[in-house]
Amino acid sequence: MTRLTRADLDALPAYVPGKAIPGAIKLASNEVPYGPLPGVVEALTAAITDVHRYPDMGVVALREALSRKTGTAEERIITGCGSVALAEHLVRATCLPGDEVLYSWRSFEAYPIIAASAGATSVRVPNTDKHAHDLRAMAAAVTDRTRLIFVCNPNNPTGTALRTAELDDFLAAVPENVLVVLDEAYREFVTDPDVPDGLRTYGDRPNVVVLRTLSKAWGLAGLRIGYLVAQPEVAGNVRKVVTPFSTSMVAQAAALAALKAEDEMTRRAGLVVKERDRLLKAVREFSPDTPETQANFVWLPLGDRAMAFGQACEEQRVIVRPFAGDGVRVTVGTEEENDAFLEAAAKAL
Ligand code: PMP
Repeated sequence: MTRLTRADLDALPAYVPGKAIPGAIKLASNEVPYGPLPGVVEALTAAITDVHRYPDMGVVALREALSRKTGTAEERIITGCGSVALAEHLVRATCLPGDEVLYSWRSFEAYPIIAASAGATSVRVPNTDKHAHDLRAMAAAVTDRTRLIFVCNPNNPTGTALRTAELDDFLAAVPENVLVVLDEAYREFVTDPDVPDGLRTYGDRPNVVVLRTLSKAWGLAGLRIGYLVAQPEVAGNVRKVVTPFSTSMVAQAAALAALKAEDEMTRRAGLVVKERDRLLKAVREFSPDTPETQANFVWLPLGDRAMAFGQACEEQRVIVRPFAGDGVRVTVGTEEENDAFLEAAAKAL
C-alpha cells in the first residue's frame, strides 16, 4: 500500500486518556472533584450567545488578568488549547527534525508524542530509584543537538518535586541556547516551601519558560486552557506557530471567571492536599515505596503488578491509571472516593 503518513509514527505509542466509565469513580486524570469554580457556569452561559463569532485571537482580557496574577508583562504570556498544546508549540518553535528534546522518564506521557510529531529525537533520562528527576544525569545528557528540556515539577505521574537548590544547579549547568520548560501543571498543590515557584524564582531567566494549566486546580479540564510565560523574544516566535484561535471564546470567558475565584480555588486545593496526605499514609501501608507527593495524585510503583491492580480496581468501579510494567497513578478525590479506592485496593492486592 502507498504510504501516506510517516513510517516513524507506526511505533509511536498513542496518548492514553484516563478511562471514564459511567457511574464509576474516576481517579485517573488528575482532575479536582468539586465541579467548576463559582462564576464559571454563569460566564459560560453569557459567552455562549456569541459563539457564531471567532474568539479574540489576542486573548487580551485574559492575558491582562494573567499578567496581574503572575506579575509578568502581557507580551510574555501565551494561552493555548491546554498546556499540552503549548508544549507542542514550544517544541515546534525550537526544534528542527533531528534536534533533541530531553526529559526524565517516567514523566508526562505527552512529551514523547510531542517530540516525535515535530520530528525531533527524544532523549530520556531515567528517574532516580526514588522516582524523581535525576537532574545531574539530565544536565550530562545535553548535547549540541539539544534544543529543549522538559522539567515536570511536580512530576506526573510520580508526584515527586525538585527543590530550589537542585534546580539552581541544573539551570546553571544547562547551556544558554537550550530552552528549559518548567511544566508546573500541579503547582497549586505544592506545599513544600523548598519547591520553587518557577515563575517567581526563574521567570526572568532568558532560557526558561514556565508552563501552567487551568485544567487541574482551576477545574477547567474540559475547556482546554493553559498558559505559558516566556521572555518576549521567545514568546514572539512561539506566538507565530500557535494554531490560530486555539483558545476558544468559552475557554477565555471561563478562565477569566475562574481567576476571579482564586480564594475558592485555594480552599479546594487545600482540601485536596489534606486528602492527599491521608491517602499517601494509607497507601504506604501496602506500597511502602510510594514517594512523597506534591501533586494531586500518588504513585504506586507496583512494577509488573500495575496492570492487574488497575484492572482489579476497575472491576470494583474505581478507575485509576496504570502504566504497564511500572506503576499506578491514583488521583486524589473526595474523602468518600479515596475511601472507595482504599477499599478496592485492599481487595485488589
Ligand atoms: N503537563 C503535565 C505534567 C500534565 O500532567 C498535564 C495533564 N495531564 C498537562 C501538562 C496538560 O494539561 P492540559 O493540556 O490539560 O493543560
